[in-house]
Amino acid sequence: MNRIKILPQVLANKIAAGEVVERPASVVKELIENSIDAGAARIEVEAVAGGKQLIRVRDDGCGMSPDDAILAFEHHATSKIFSAEDLASITTLGFRGEALPSIASISWLFLRTVEPGDGPRAGTEVEVRGGIMRQVRETAWERGTEVEVRQLFFNVPARRKFLKSVETELGHITRLVTHYGLARPEISFSFSHQGRELINCPKAESVAERAAQVFGSDFMRNLVEFAAAWRDVSVYGFASRPHEQRSTPYSQFFYVNKRMVRDRIISHAVAQAYRAVIPSGVYPVVLLFIELPPSEVDVNVHPQKLEIRFRDQETVHGLIQGAIEQALLRARSVPNYAQRPAREPEPYTLSAAPVLPQGDLEFAPPPAERCDTAPAQIGPHEAGGDEYYSVPLSFAAGGLRPLGQLRDSFIVAADSQGLLIVDQHVAHERVLFEKVLAEMEGQGVLAQQLLVPEVFDLTPEQEVLLGDLFDELRRSGFELERFGGRTVAIRAVPAMAREVEARLLLTEILQGLEREQRTRDISAIRRRIAAGVACRAAIKINHPLTDEKMQWLLDELARARVPTHCPHGRPIALRLSLREIEKNFKRP
Ligand code: ADP
Ligand code: MG
Repeated sequence: MNRIKILPQVLANKIAAGEVVERPASVVKELIENSIDAGAARIEVEAVAGGKQLIRVRDDGCGMSPDDAILAFEHHATSKIFSAEDLASITTLGFRGEALPSIASISWLFLRTVEPGDGPRAGTEVEVRGGIMRQVRETAWERGTEVEVRQLFFNVPARRKFLKSVETELGHITRLVTHYGLARPEISFSFSHQGRELINCPKAESVAERAAQVFGSDFMRNLVEFAAAWRDVSVYGFASRPHEQRSTPYSQFFYVNKRMVRDRIISHAVAQAYRAVIPSGVYPVVLLFIELPPSEVDVNVHPQKLEIRFRDQETVHGLIQGAIEQALLRARSVPNYAQRPAREPEPYTLSAAPVLPQGDLEFAPPPAERCDTAPAQIGPHEAGGDEYYSVPLSFAAGGLRPLGQLRDSFIVAADSQGLLIVDQHVAHERVLFEKVLAEMEGQGVLAQQLLVPEVFDLTPEQEVLLGDLFDELRRSGFELERFGGRTVAIRAVPAMAREVEARLLLTEILQGLEREQRTRDISAIRRRIAAGVACRAAIKINHPLTDEKMQWLLDELARARVPTHCPHGRPIALRLSLREIEKNFKRP
């Protein structure tokens, strides 16, 4: 019995759509790529409800004839390649002829377009719903192409259900437009969400100028330029100085022949270049372009063309790593770390090995990063409650006496139960964290006015975040004022953080908040803000303390609700109990 059937085209398209279109941002990506391939000088993107209700991309590119406008919705219909040989030398972003039919099969799509020419010409409007062409008609259309995608996934409820919140989908679209905007300074880009303009980049002369439009010209001071070439492979771009760190890799923009990609070889090379200057688990901001002959890279390995394959991976890897390392070195850009004695935090080990007790003194693994530079990450201890102590501590207020300070970083203290070694930074961080949190939940955190407000530009993503978090930030002592566009002024900061660079503090907090903001868990948001403020404001390591200050800190710590771990989950103190001391001296 014959069982195999050829699927109806509409169904086949719907299946193909699953590969190409994951979420609204994937639609935006395909449409922007088409506009770029059409030679547009201006691309306008609009969305409603994070693109779930509406996505509209309009360009002033080459447009389409009425016949082409219809043909574009056929599977494998493309004007970009004609033969198998062309696959080896692709210079356009698209080539599979899959995007339009796929998107049209899972949405209600309108395409309006006109071919350029002299005098008034009729444009074409094509309407496709759920993969079925419903109407083709003449329409007045001045220039270029517009694609309007309504009700994405309306006929694929399983997909629709998996879409995330409006904010999350909006975040993805914003990142996507930013990504392409950075790659093509010669094209002007705009993006508005429900009438609110989030991105507006007029045509720029260079990648640097475009990056300044996107990140703010202030921010450019945190970036160093790099470039290197070998044979016909070249890399260039901008990389952040080590003190600019992010908790996600979202601020890394990679392009191969101006196509945005994600690639393990590239990520790895970047991580290697920073290995010596920033802790693992945090990410630099990187804008990286690789140019090489199309035949040196296979772009046809991923349905969304996001992944690629280099023919000569080693060359690419070496060039990237070398170029960034050199640039960082040249810029001597290790301000935060230069003052530290060691790059890697030293493991918490007591050097006199025989004294090391085997029993109840449990050493936490050395932290992978220091909290005073790492963006806040709320550790499991915060999330899961207070009962989990890796070093059970008990001390009563007033019972702890400081004996001295080790390396200007650790307080050695004693009480009736034995010795305690306290990391001054994390201890103070814990104390401040609880204070900020309590104040946020109560009257609000005491604010300190800045003499001169700090004015700077937010990135589009930060702007979206800030909009939603304005109230919580005010509760935590920030006084912010919005100007036009993405410009914001910080007028006041939490009083305890007054000596900290306000811009850094705010952007770090915003950065850390991406995840919490998505879940809209207000207590998680507050903990994250409190951790950010505490981390910045706390006493640093390599900082001498007077006896009084040490005593004050120990007393404060003893009063803390969770005196054992900092908000990032790192241990605050090590205890060496009298019993352990006696046992090691062989006293019964
Ligand atoms: P691909 O980009 O892989 O060729 P698509 O399905 O995305 O496939 O588009 C099909 C064809 O429709 C393109 O090859 C191009 O000729 C035409 N097209 C799509 N979008 C535009 C646009 N914005 N301007 C002009 N032509 C377009
Ligand atoms: Mg395309």
